Amino acid sequence: MQRVYSKFLLSAVSPERFPLPTMPEIAFLGRSNVGKSSLLNALLGSKQAHVSSTPGRTRAINFFSITDSPERQQPQMYFADLPGYGYAKLSKSISAEWPKFIEPYLADRPTLALCFCLVDSNIPPQKSDAQLIHFLRSYNRRFLVVGTKADRLSGNARVKAQADLRKGLAVEDLLLCSSKTGAGLKEVWSAIYKAAEE
Ligand code: GDP
Repeated sequence: MQRVYSKFLLSAVSPERFPLPTMPEIAFLGRSNVGKSSLLNALLGSKQAHVSSTPGRTRAINFFSITDSPERQQPQMYFADLPGYGYAKLSKSISAEWPKFIEPYLADRPTLALCFCLVDSNIPPQKSDAQLIHFLRSYNRRFLVVGTKADRLSGNARVKAQADLRKGLAVEDLLLCSSKTGAGLKEVWSAIYKAAEE
C-alpha cells in the first residue's frame, strides 16, 4: 500500500463552511464507538481523526485533504468524517438526532464519490444502520458497508457475522476490517481509489 499524506482541513457545521466541491470526496459514517476514528487513523497512518473527539467537533463534519506526495500542492481527494449516530437509544430515527446539515450533505454534495457505512461486526445489524443505508439508497448514493473490529471474531463466527450483516442490511458487498491488525485495510483503500478515479 502506498504512503498517503493527510491534513486536517476544517470542521464544518453548515454547508457554507464545507470546502468547495472540487475533489472527489469519501465519507465515513457509523454509530458512535463503531471504530471510525481508529479506522481513519489506521488508513491515514496518523492520529488525525482524534481531532474529531475535540469538544465541538464531534457534531461537525471534519474534512481532511489526502495526497500521495507531500510536495503536491493540490489534494487528490477529501475525506469527510461525519458525526457518529446512535447516542439516543430511544430515538426513532437517525434523522432526529443528526445535526440538520447532515442529510443535505449526503443528499446534495456533488463530489461525494463513496460513503463508507461502518458497522460493528461483533453485534447484530442495528436499526439505525439500516436507516442510514435506506437513506443513502433513496439518494442513489454509492456506499460500502464495512464491518469493524473483525479481529475479535474467528473462523466460523466471522463467516456468520458477515452473513448476518449482509442479510440484515440487505447488501451484497461487505468488507470486514480491523484497525488493530490492519486486516482488510488494503481492500478499503482499493474501494477508495476506485471510487475517486471514476
Ligand atoms: P468511534 O467513536 O467510532 O470513533 O470509535 P473509536 O475509534 O474511538 O473506537 C471505539 C472503541 O473500539 C475503542 O475502545 C477502540 O479501541 C475500539 N476499536 C476500534 N477499532 C478496533 C478494532 O479494529 N479492533 C478492536 N478489537 N477494537 C477496536
